[in-house]
Amino acid sequence: MARVVLITGSNAPEAEKLLARARRLVAERVGAVEKESTVHRSRAWGFEAPDFSNQVLVSATSLAPEAVLDAVNAIETALGRDRQRELAEKAATGQRYASRPIDIDILFYDCEVIGTRRLTVPHPLMAERDFVLDPLAEVMRDFVHPTIGKSIEEIRNERRKS
Ligand code: AMP
Repeated sequence: MARVVLITGSNAPEAEKLLARARRLVAERVGAVEKESTVHRSRAWGFEAPDFSNQVLVSATSLAPEAVLDAVNAIETALGRDRQRELAEKAATGQRYASRPIDIDILFYDCEVIGTRRLTVPHPLMAERDFVLDPLAEVMRDFVHPTIGKSIEEIRNERRKS
């Protein structure tokens, strides 16, 4: 069994319901959810859009990392994510990001460092994003980031000072 850490996010009007459905599907398709943060709300990052809600889930999984990615992509599709529409929205607005009903990213897979065509783990931008670090600190404050070599709490405190 591996421990995989996911972050779910939504800025749809029914975000809380979508996050709850995502959590249930993660438990069914990825593995039992051992820990979960509360739902954090934050301003959209990188583009103009309604506020986002995010939740961190820690799941015990027997899936390999790329199989976890397949499972979370299938959950996104099941919850209405339409990548073609997002591409059209990005082209129309010129923004780098588009609204989506649900987004699920892999933050950590045990302490593994993965860099394949499809997958970068630990997720590269997490240390710069409060909307990731805040819920993450709720469930694994002392976990040492495998490439940065500091705990989530230390990374968060350093960000606050800078
Ligand atoms: P997004 O459109 O932001 O959901 O990006 C999804 C794409 O990013 C996926 O198709 C993955 O191939 C890629 N990706 C790379 N690293 C990760 C990661 N750690 N978690 C989720 N997706 C990732």
